[in-house]
Amino acid sequence: MAIVSPVNTAPGERRRLALQNPATLEPIGEIEVQTIDDATAAVEIARKAQVEWGSLPISERARYLQRTLETLLERQDDIIDTVLRETGKTRTEALQMEVFAVGDSLNYYAKNAARILRPEKRTLHGILRVLKQLRIIYRPLGVVGVISPWNGPFVLSMNPCLQALIAGNAVILKPSEITPFSGLLAAEIFAAAGLPDGLFQVLTGDGETGAALTRAGVDKVSFTGSVETGRKVAVACAEQLIPCTLELGGKDAMIVCEDANLDYAAGGAVAGAFMNTGQYCCGTERVYVVESVAEEFTRKVVDCVSELRQGSDGEFDVGAIFWPRQLEIIEEHMADAVERGAKVLTGGRRNPDLEGLFYEPTVLTNVDHGMKIMRDETFGPILPIMRVSDEEAAIAHANDSRYGLGGNVWTRDTSKGVRIAQRMQSGSVCVNDMTMTYGIQEAPFGGLKQSGIGQVNGETGLRGYCHAEPIIVDRRGGKMSADRYPYSAKTDAGMQKFMKLLWGTGIGRWLS
Ligand code: NAD
Repeated sequence: MAIVSPVNTAPGERRRLALQNPATLEPIGEIEVQTIDDATAAVEIARKAQVEWGSLPISERARYLQRTLETLLERQDDIIDTVLRETGKTRTEALQMEVFAVGDSLNYYAKNAARILRPEKRTLHGILRVLKQLRIIYRPLGVVGVISPWNGPFVLSMNPCLQALIAGNAVILKPSEITPFSGLLAAEIFAAAGLPDGLFQVLTGDGETGAALTRAGVDKVSFTGSVETGRKVAVACAEQLIPCTLELGGKDAMIVCEDANLDYAAGGAVAGAFMNTGQYCCGTERVYVVESVAEEFTRKVVDCVSELRQGSDGEFDVGAIFWPRQLEIIEEHMADAVERGAKVLTGGRRNPDLEGLFYEPTVLTNVDHGMKIMRDETFGPILPIMRVSDEEAAIAHANDSRYGLGGNVWTRDTSKGVRIAQRMQSGSVCVNDMTMTYGIQEAPFGGLKQSGIGQVNGETGLRGYCHAEPIIVDRRGGKMSADRYPYSAKTDAGMQKFMKLLWGTGIGRWLS
């Protein structure tokens, strides 16, 4: 993400923020910090626009997503350039994580939203099925506020927004102040695809603007960011009794079993730790490898890392740290680890050959849970490897964390991998893969423990932008209500007999 600093403004003027490219340190523009008045005005516009949008058939809303997909394909270079300017990530990561992932999401929801949100008829249990009918319809909530972070500035803005939109809501996005231009580009792309005015708006600014959006009258907040801010958003939503999903930080563990293919596991560890320069919520932040294979695995990891090219220009594998604060956290965690006895096998410093915010891909051993690097989210290109006696110890260490976002297990025995996955206290786990869950459209995604509340994506996520309204229809046109009174001891006794028959006899239990 970009480097952001306040601009001097005259008294009474709006605050402004100036941004710099973190890889080249060049200025890339300024944004205005929008206020509670802007947020309230945006909600009013959104609410009006939502009325007609919410009543369109989903198939018609899907056509807008299809056109957005076409616009995305046409404007993919703009997206990549904007993301690169703001983040200094690699071109390939911008293409895969931001453009491809959003394209896949647009395509998936355009094709599947109508099926997922189709009104349902559900058969009731027991005797009720002859008396009543249950239908469920998925109604849009109204206006959804989306607040996004800097590490996936386009995808983490677009993905929740397009789901909320196709579910029939209007959306107001508040992108990170460190990567606002990706959010503004999202608005351009929706507009170019013909989305009706007012349905998708962007508010620029920092925490003040995010906090304003949560209190401006929206019907739901979809938040992605840190635990600290997530807690504030949860409080704001609780005070207004509106729902929220909180997709927060992580400290994902990787478990390498004795029978793992060590070449694949080493590749998975390196990609898991250094993709997006380690600034990925589901990045691998700690590895537990079984003693008997630890030496070979670690050697293979270090060999892989020595091949990685870091840079800002041309072809390279590892990009910049997106903003100075993150670099400070990485250095603080590293200093603490080294002071407590961690051994740096490679990296361990800012890259002296590059001008911008670059930290070398780093591999550590001799680490333990007394170190910040094993406990707190580092969000940088650091791979600490800890040897453990066996898989039981690996699971225990993996679960010894206040986070629970993702994790991964490496073994040639898939059934064992799934058994270990089931015992990891994580919102999602990959077996012989890493960080994939967010990219699988069908998979509900969300964290346990302090990694979040609720889930996004898939059926669960899409329905989360709706109210599931049960409609109960009496099969006898309402006769039961007419027969309700008067209450009497005789009807109570009849009810008791009926219960005995229903739940106290074989035939009754079969019927119910
Ligand atoms: P952050 O919490 O600092 O900021 C996130 C967003 O919240 C920004 O847009 C910010 O302006 C806004 N904000 C700040 N104060 C606010 C307030 N009081 N009320 C409302 N909004 C406010 O997070 P970040 O540094 O931008 O992002 C990095 C974090 O996000 C990491 O912890 C990472 O793990 C997490 N993350 C999680 C996921 C996930 O899906 N679980 C995905 C990506 C990133």
